[in-house]
Amino acid sequence: MKDIETKDHQLTVALRIRPLSDSELEESATIVAHRVDDQMVVLMDPPGDHEDVLRANRSREKAYMFDVAFDYSTSQEELYRATTKGLIHGLISGYNATVFAYGPTGCGKTYTMLGTDKDPGIYVRTLNDLFHSIEETSDSMMYSVSMSYLEIYNEMIRDLLNPTSGFLDLREDSKGEIQVAGITEVSTVNAQEIMELLVKGNRQRTQEPTAANRTSSRSHALLQVCVKRQDLNQEVRFGRLFMIDLAGSERAAQTQNTGQRLKEGAHINRSLLALGNCINALSDKNAHRYVNYRDSKLTRLLKDSLGGNSRTVMIAHISPASIAFEESRNTLSYADRAKHIRTRVKKNMTSVSHHIAQYTSIITELRGEIQRL
Ligand code: ADP
Ligand code: MG
Repeated sequence: MKDIETKDHQLTVALRIRPLSDSELEESATIVAHRVDDQMVVLMDPPGDHEDVLRANRSREKAYMFDVAFDYSTSQEELYRATTKGLIHGLISGYNATVFAYGPTGCGKTYTMLGTDKDPGIYVRTLNDLFHSIEETSDSMMYSVSMSYLEIYNEMIRDLLNPTSGFLDLREDSKGEIQVAGITEVSTVNAQEIMELLVKGNRQRTQEPTAANRTSSRSHALLQVCVKRQDLNQEVRFGRLFMIDLAGSERAAQTQNTGQRLKEGAHINRSLLALGNCINALSDKNAHRYVNYRDSKLTRLLKDSLGGNSRTVMIAHISPASIAFEESRNTLSYADRAKHIRTRVKKNMTSVSHHIAQYTSIITELRGEIQRL
């Protein structure tokens, strides 16, 4: 599998189809979602569908193209390399980055992000490689790395590394970036220790039992990694990486389908709906639509990741099973829309020479604009 290059000006969208689960096999589910090649996924209408006649003029098969597509044959390492590894160099050079897992409950988001002790996911692989990269360049640079892990549940933020600390607030810092006030920041560089912290943190996530034998998660988990780098000329760069395991998308999709209004505290995930609205507005090619980041905690935190200064990768997850057809179709079309989002990535630096360079480039840009008039 080739590694994708995260594009500077566009959201990178990946799709992962997990293997059929035991319970799907028990229900005699068939496979309706296939990966065709590195980029293409096909979804077929389930067989035995009695509405065939009604759908006579609709194709029974729909193909979707993504930046990269994965299925049961993709290892955790391959997925990590193709989606996230490429962000690390930017992160230590002062660029922001975001990776988020999207999809219905049970489709593999936590498997992708956290993974298992034996086969860890993106969190640990990224931190490992980050520490290696830092070691390699630490002769000429000074680095400090801090990590925090938080949950957004019912529009409240909890510190997963210190669950007894109560609910935390968002604040805007002097650079205009949104920060979580009072969050625990850990600066260990030991990968094993980190995995233990994350697994422990994950156990603190709010779980909510739903239909038969299913644990559904309505909480978003966000692992935030901040890297500060200082070189011999005192130039300081900051990079921030978010790695996010989103709440199950099934309810948001349902409420969007039935046109239900967003109600706080009801069985609707405000953050996920707001994320969907932002993605819709940002991917609208026709107009500069107003993007309302302020609608939820998640979108406030992800403002830069979605509309601005961040290289962003979305990994959408689906089940291959016939019984998950509707959910898979919703997820595929959501991910398909997200492909149109554009971002503007810049380095986060502070130094006198940088300000001059910035102004020079603004002046050059303005000159170009005047010439075009
Ligand atoms: P989600 O976080 O989206 O609700 P999980 O990550 O908990 O879903 O996955 C549900 C189940 O499927 C778990 O038992 C998980 O280990 C398994 N699973 C998910 N994706 C894969 C995969 N790519 N390969 C093997 N098992 C997977
Ligand atoms: Mg999960």
